[in-house]
Amino acid sequence: MNPNQCSFCGKKRNEVELLISGNEGFICENCIEQAHAIIKENISGSSFLAAESMAELKKPKEIKTYLDQYVIGQDQAKKQLSIAVYNHYKRLLHAQDEKREVEIEKSNIIMIGETGTGKTLLAKTIARELNVPFCIVDATILTEAGYVGEDVESILSRLLMVADYDVDKAEKGIVFIDEIDKIARKSDNPSITRDVSGEGVQQGLLKLLEGSIVNVPPQGGRKHPDQKYIQVNTQNILFIAGGAFDGIKEIIERRLNKQAIGFSAEKLNKTEDDAYILSQLNAIDLRKFGLIPELLGRFPIVTYLDKLTKDTMVRIMKEPKNSIVNQFVELFKMDGVTLTFTDEAIERIVEETMDKGLGARGLRGTTEKVLENYMFDIDQYDELTLDANNVIF
Ligand code: ADP
Repeated sequence: MNPNQCSFCGKKRNEVELLISGNEGFICENCIEQAHAIIKENISGSSFLAAESMAELKKPKEIKTYLDQYVIGQDQAKKQLSIAVYNHYKRLLHAQDEKREVEIEKSNIIMIGETGTGKTLLAKTIARELNVPFCIVDATILTEAGYVGEDVESILSRLLMVADYDVDKAEKGIVFIDEIDKIARKSDNPSITRDVSGEGVQQGLLKLLEGSIVNVPPQGGRKHPDQKYIQVNTQNILFIAGGAFDGIKEIIERRLNKQAIGFSAEKLNKTEDDAYILSQLNAIDLRKFGLIPELLGRFPIVTYLDKLTKDTMVRIMKEPKNSIVNQFVELFKMDGVTLTFTDEAIERIVEETMDKGLGARGLRGTTEKVLENYMFDIDQYDELTLDANNVIF
């Protein structure tokens, strides 16, 4: 063992900054860093990123079963999303096959549904299951290049950031573009004046969506002439867009009415009616809403999320793995208090949240309010049962 050189790379003491000694040898700072990178890749490396064969890839049913643990209802969206994601990653494997004759194109997805129905949750959960980098961007902060706001490339800066600047990893990630409906063209006619925040951004997004090599400023924000860019190939990045698309139902209705006069005379009740109409949604309606055809062409899969009913909200309180009920039970348990929610208590919390016009997002706040005093006096309890009598807002 030579005390004057790294036992791993052989570099001399004067060629390195640090040489750490061990029982049987020495290691320099470069080798430590490399070893660290290897460990990180192997330990945090996902089952997916290592998936090199069809056998290792999660099947749509498995993906859906995983989603079921976290997202309540929304069966149609879950199914479509599971298939789309499966096909997406199957396509990646296919692209590695040198003998392939058919090129499989990417299938980005648009999810339509009122705010708080689980769009972000779905995208986030899928990314977690696959263990790929995931980021959320709000389409409303994007502007056309050269205007105040963020350039579309900033989307990729974020993805790079969550991928720890590992370009390979980022190139297989998932991007969720929220509020895509807010960049709709303002009028049905192609714009005469510049539409900086709408159509211009849609145009800007095209190059990311279609799969090209994009120069990304590492720190996000504006491009700067003397900044070094990182090149990211977007070909394998899956884009999921979400939006509430207020008024889309009327657009579908109008189209359906035009197609079949007398459709509205069918006696369907309101919810069935809504669900039926939304199930008829297609790209024509989204185009009418103000998304440009080129953009729609890059989002071949359109899915919609159901409105949350009272029953669904009750299930959201109780069923997900990290449900609100479970979270509070856990919090109380840390103080040695056994907290129990009765069904009536949960129903009251749901009703109160719905009365206030808050969706599932409001459930936590309402529960917090109900438990406020109990949490303050937590040392006085061993056991606490929440029922219709002590649920007070
Ligand atoms: P969106 O993106 O549609 O506006 P989110 O996915 O952000 O809504 O939902 C907000 C929150 O409401 C979630 O974090 C989750 O706690 C809850 N939530 C909404 N929909 C569901 C659902 N279907 N199942 C479970 N939780 C839900």
